[in-house]
Formats: sequence, C-alpha cells, structure tokens
Amino acid sequence: MQQCSSMLRMVDLRGQYEKIKLEVDEAISQVLCSSAFIQGPQVKEFEKHLSDYLGVKHVIGCGNGTDALQIALMALELKAGDEVIVPAFTYVATAEVIGLLGLTPVLVDVDYGTFNVGVEHIRRAITPRTKAIVPVHLFGQSCDMGPILALAEEYGLWVVEDNAQAIGAEYRFGRQGSVKKTGTMGHIGCTSFFPSKNLGCYGDGGALMTDDDELALRIRMIANHGQREKYRHYLIGCNSRLDTIQAAVLDVKLKYLDSYNAARYNAARYYTDRLRKLDPQGKYFLMPEEKDYGTHVYHQYTLKIRGESAGAKEGRTRDRLQEYLREGGIPSMVYYPLPLQAQEAFRDIAKIGGEMLGVSAELAASVLSLPMHTELTRAEQDRVVERIREFFKL
Ligand SMILES: *Cc1c(COP(=O)(O)O)cnc(C)c1O
Repeated sequence: MQQCSSMLRMVDLRGQYEKIKLEVDEAISQVLCSSAFIQGPQVKEFEKHLSDYLGVKHVIGCGNGTDALQIALMALELKAGDEVIVPAFTYVATAEVIGLLGLTPVLVDVDYGTFNVGVEHIRRAITPRTKAIVPVHLFGQSCDMGPILALAEEYGLWVVEDNAQAIGAEYRFGRQGSVKKTGTMGHIGCTSFFPSKNLGCYGDGGALMTDDDELALRIRMIANHGQREKYRHYLIGCNSRLDTIQAAVLDVKLKYLDSYNAARYNAARYYTDRLRKLDPQGKYFLMPEEKDYGTHVYHQYTLKIRGESAGAKEGRTRDRLQEYLREGGIPSMVYYPLPLQAQEAFRDIAKIGGEMLGVSAELAASVLSLPMHTELTRAEQDRVVERIREFFKL
C-alpha cells in the first residue's frame, strides 16, 4: 500500500484506516459480492448495533447528518412560520434545514465556557410560536440537558438533538442521576457519519435516534419517499438512505468508537496539561472546559485566543497565531469564523431570540481548533504546543 507522509494533520483518516484495513476491506467486499447496494442487510445490522450501543429503541440510517436534521423536523409536522430555537454558534446545517422547511430559525447565544446553548438562552427566546429546540452538543460535549428538557416539557416543545459532533458522549441527570448518551435524550437525536466525525464512514452518512415508536415509523417512511410498502406513499418524504457500503464500514468502526473517543480524550488531556503550564492564568488563551455532568469526546480541541478584538490594527491575535502555526507546518482550523446572525443566507429569515448574540460573535473571533484525531502522537502534540509557546514568547 502506498505510504503517506508523516505530516501533521487536523485529522488522519488514512492512519486510522490502515489499522482496520483487513476488517473494513472484508466488509466492503461482502457488499460488493452481494450487490445489495441499497438497503442491504448491513444497514439493518448496523442500525441494531448502534441502537444497542446508544441505549435507544430506534436508529434509522439516512444519507447524511443534514438530512437527519431535516427529516427530524419533517417528522414533527411543523408548519410554516413555526419557530425553532437554535444556537447562533454552530455549523450552518443545524439552522439551514429550519429555513429550508419554511420554519423560522430563532438564533440564541451560547455559553462562553462550553460553547453550548444553555437553558437560560432558550428560555428568553420562547414565544407562542416556538415549537422546537435544537440543542447542539458542540465539539463533543453534551449540553446541560436536564434543565433544557424540563423547560421543553413546561412549554410543550419538541427537542431535536444535533449530535453530529458528540456520538458516544454521556450526560448525567443530577449528581447521582441516570446516565444517557447524547442523541438519546430529546424526542429525536440526529447524527452525522461524515468521514471526520468521531464515528465516520468513507463517504456521506447519517442517522436519527428515537425511543418513540410512532416517530420512528414516520422517520423511516420520510427517509424513503414516504413509503411503508413499496409504491404506497403515505407522506411527502425524500430519498435519504444510508448506503449499504457505508453501513458495512460503520459496523466495523462502531466496535472501536469507545477506544477512538478515549484516544481523543487522552490527547486533549495532554494538550491541556502542557498548555496550562505555559499560561496558568489564562492570560493568552483558554483551554476547553469540561463539565462534571458529562463526558467529553473531543470532536474538536478548541482554544479561545485572548487579545485584541475584531478589527484591531495588526489583525486579531487568533489569526496571527494561526498564520504562525501554518508557517511552522502546523494546521489549525477556525470552527466557526462567522456566527449565524452574520451569515448572509440567514439575514432575511432568522430571528434573534430575545438577547444580543455577543458571545457567539466573540467566539467566532477568538476560537482556534488544534489537530485532534485518533492517531495523534505526543511528539506531534509537543510540536503544536512548542509553536504556540514561541508565538506568545512564554
Ligand atoms: C457535520 C455536522 C452536521 C451535518 O452533517 P453532514 O453529514 O455533513 O450533513 C450538522 N451539524 C453539526 C453540528 C455538524 O458538525
């Protein structure tokens, strides 16, 4: 097999594949031999294994994570003009599908420490037209779901979790309370198997999770042209199925998900230990915060770079640091450079939910995600940390 260079990468899908190549190749080859490319038996098997892993009654595969969110909202039968509350600091897909369905995205701010939407942000945005909330477990850590679910119950709102970045993470309800996996707490959970996600396939893929039999049936129908039996269409749906080859790959990788997430966690620990020694007071940058109500599966390891704010003369410190890292051969990414309220596509359709979105704007100007993947070595992490030390002259 062709070797790839040992360049430091944001993600290293190739290195991960090499370790499971025999199993994955065998699984793909079985699909090729059977030629059941659409809804082959591997899809059902993977759905069953993922539902066992998550502890949820139904898992329904679909074409990608964005479709999962769209199908979830379609299954709830919302009407044009209904409001759906969504964080302003997230990947565009979360809010895009709300607009696509003619619903109104109501943007709310997030918590500076965790990047996640909190119950108070949501409470202030509720109106008589509010029908649903889409909390996003950003960068791999659960939102504080207990209070959010209680608020949703109080107002009779649907909760659709965007779990694209946190599969395998857990949340604990209260100190001694029950523990649930993210994506299984709301009425519907959505996830993405985009290759770089914590559980990624080798193309596009996604899934929905629910404990509700009726919703599960509707979701399954919507994802497959609204049909239950072939050529009998009960609902307007779409064509969004999980590809059989992708399901076969995912079924292999699911067995390793906990070890992958542990590798990410250990890498995050190492970054944090080393970086804290450089800047114990957090004068130059802040490390990700871990909350004791859950586990963090570090889809991203994201720093907040302190310093002059947007528009300063020499440019933002964050942008200069990113350039300095790049010159040293160290990749980094800004997730996300613009909050949704600053995106042209949302200008005419989004509402701002009851408060200014200052934290989201500040995060967009100061976040920087470092290389984070299952194959990252300590030596590579040392290079990243050393370059950061040089930049700040610490
Ligand atoms: C990746 C992602 C999605 C979309 O998933 P796709 O499979 O790329 O369509 C949605 N929300 C969040 C938060 C994501 O990170």
